[in-house]
Amino acid sequence: MPTTLLRIALPTPLYRSFDYLCPSDCLVDHQLPQVGCRVRVPFGRQELVGIIIAHIASSDSDVPFDKLKPIYECLDDTAIISDELLHLANWLSAYYHYPLGETLSVMLPSPINQGKPTAKTCTFWQLIDGIDDITAQQKLPKNAKKQWQTFHALKDNPPSLSDAQIKELGINKAQLTALQDKGLIHARTDDGQLKNPKKPTLQSTPLTLNDEQQTVFLGIKTAMDERQYRGILLNGITGSGKTEVYLHAMWHALALGKQVLVLVPEIGLTPQTKARFSSRFNANICVLHSGMNDGERLQGWQDCRSGFAQIIIGTRSSVLYPFDNLGLIIIDESHDSSYKQQDHLRYHACDVALWRGYQAGIPVLLGTATPSLEQLKLAQDGKLSEYKLIKRAGNAKSATMQLIDIKQGTRSVIQANGQEQNTLLCKSSIWHIKNRLANGEQVLIFLNRRGYAPILMCDGCGWQADCPNCDAHLTLHKYPTNQLKCHHCGFCTHTPSTCPECNSQNLLDLGLGTSKLGEQLHAIFGNPQTTPQTYPIWQIDKDTMRKKGAWEAMYDRILTGEPAILVGTQMIAKGHHFPNVTLVVVVDADLGFLSPDFRSPEHTAQRIIQVAGRAGRADKTGDVLIQTRQPDNPLLITLIKHGYLAFAQILLKERQLLGLPPFTHAALIRAESPHQERTRTAISDITKRLPNLPNLAKSGMIDAPMNKKNNRYHSQLLLLAKDRKTLHTVLSEHWQDMLALPSTKGIKLSLDIDPMGW
Ligand code: ADP
Ligand code: ZN
Ligand code: ZN
Repeated sequence: MPTTLLRIALPTPLYRSFDYLCPSDCLVDHQLPQVGCRVRVPFGRQELVGIIIAHIASSDSDVPFDKLKPIYECLDDTAIISDELLHLANWLSAYYHYPLGETLSVMLPSPINQGKPTAKTCTFWQLIDGIDDITAQQKLPKNAKKQWQTFHALKDNPPSLSDAQIKELGINKAQLTALQDKGLIHARTDDGQLKNPKKPTLQSTPLTLNDEQQTVFLGIKTAMDERQYRGILLNGITGSGKTEVYLHAMWHALALGKQVLVLVPEIGLTPQTKARFSSRFNANICVLHSGMNDGERLQGWQDCRSGFAQIIIGTRSSVLYPFDNLGLIIIDESHDSSYKQQDHLRYHACDVALWRGYQAGIPVLLGTATPSLEQLKLAQDGKLSEYKLIKRAGNAKSATMQLIDIKQGTRSVIQANGQEQNTLLCKSSIWHIKNRLANGEQVLIFLNRRGYAPILMCDGCGWQADCPNCDAHLTLHKYPTNQLKCHHCGFCTHTPSTCPECNSQNLLDLGLGTSKLGEQLHAIFGNPQTTPQTYPIWQIDKDTMRKKGAWEAMYDRILTGEPAILVGTQMIAKGHHFPNVTLVVVVDADLGFLSPDFRSPEHTAQRIIQVAGRAGRADKTGDVLIQTRQPDNPLLITLIKHGYLAFAQILLKERQLLGLPPFTHAALIRAESPHQERTRTAISDITKRLPNLPNLAKSGMIDAPMNKKNNRYHSQLLLLAKDRKTLHTVLSEHWQDMLALPSTKGIKLSLDIDPMGW
């Protein structure tokens, strides 16, 4: 009888699995350890932790029997990776052409990858069923203030509070023990007993959906009731009540006893989302984000897997988590490019979510005001059901948008050194800003460029401050310590006072960043010597909001509604709800339209619409001023006059004509090394290696748009195929050979399926 072997996925860059013997002392209850258990194995001279992916007969192994090695130990008694999760890993590995073992290690929290025990038990405290205020009064002395506080904290947070939450609330163990001794509360651990957490309840009454909202909701509800997959594109303008639709759909899933996964693009949006959900539902809400430490991540992973977490709010990677009983996936701002992972396993969370929804037979809801062209095409091809919300819900009216020609004249200010400086703010924009402030309202000024100025140049000889490590200019950061910084590699140096080439003192800062704009706005609106009425100017970007809690504090300050100017980058453009912001100014709409990246117009328009959505979200009407040097640009005019969808249709036609995604399927092979020539040779060799097929276009070797970055050179090869199958067949047949080519030795090669840009 052939021996049964364990086939194991190991975290190595090799595109294969490995077979091992299972010695008798590694059996679990006299049986082979289950598929999905972790094992510790010898691998060359190392010891690795891997996952059993199959049991196979020794006759099916291509390793001779006498070469097989036994595993050291099995780390789990029962599978910790479900068949469903393994299936996902296999699909990811095949679709993204990424080794299975490494795919699994991307999907799992590091303590799991390191072979640490899963059952780091966390204690949850809760009231014993049936205990209410009356029973508590019989058992707790009136003056035991702290015990009463603890009692109320548990009562107000059903079904339970974890140790960590208890600590956060400032409750200490002594009070818990006292309540426990009195038979009011009990503690439970998370090892399976919490599988059936209390049924979620409504905390507040849902709004009555309008007709448009109701139609979408019914579409989702029907799919859920029929246990069917359905991919839904909810295309609703900002403020049209998408979130309210989410809440209704979530409640339907929760009431069916299912978990709901809500993906959000950024960590900054999670506290807000959580607050909105917890004011509606009494349920276990679990927030997953990149700022968590290993322990927190493991806890979240376990809570999702056990079913304890009922609502899961997370960024991109939560789409790779295990779930006990998932009933609905919602992707908010589904067009956002942060859903695409840009290194290692380069997955797109929307595509993964749709695949998972299909497998699980559940609806997947993609919500956005500005669908990506890929998502619009899927809707046109009938692969997503599209629903539109075209009216703002509640009382708010849509903001009006207006193009302003920068060439018609901008305001200048006098700098500290007495020189006059152009502000890039048009006179009419300034007039509008003034009016809104005088009305007691807030103004948001959007400029997607942080720092003081993107270029420092010598007026004498033309020298420019460039990064020594990258093909890029250094950005001038005048505050707080006058430095030049590279936004690509992090290089940083003091700003010279004279030109390093010709010693001239005439160094000019060219272009505009948020910090310079903030300074100019201060000169116009914040200087008590020149203006009778001054207003605060808040600069909001990655630089100023770096400190922990800074953003939260700023957020609260904005919500006070005090008249002020908010100047910032993308950070303030996304999803926030600032009721008193009534005017939005886009300082330089052309920044993105002129970029060579083919996705740039799409992304720029999405950003403009998104930031415009910040204007007039409450009861005051909003205005959006879009400054441009090309007021006749037909694309821009279409966007303003006819909206994002009309704009997107033009772009789609263009993409179709040019044979670009989503009308073709792309893969980008990148090579990276410290040696320019070797990088180029590697890509040239790879290009030669690929077959010539009628449905496959190859770019040939090209240097990446930023060839040198952090002292490494980047070359690439773009593949465009009419159909997905051609692309994947070619890659399945050749990618592994390419990795083995002699010229690719020592070169970092990567493959990006459905890349965002090139
Ligand atoms: P979006 O997510 O599309 O930006 P929201 O769901 O946040 O929109 O809704 C915008 C505003 O409209 C919120 O203040 C919300 O409470 C309100 N709202 C949404 N749906 C309704 C409704 N059916 N009736 C009344 N007000 C609504
Ligand atoms: Zn010079
Ligand atoms: Zn650099």
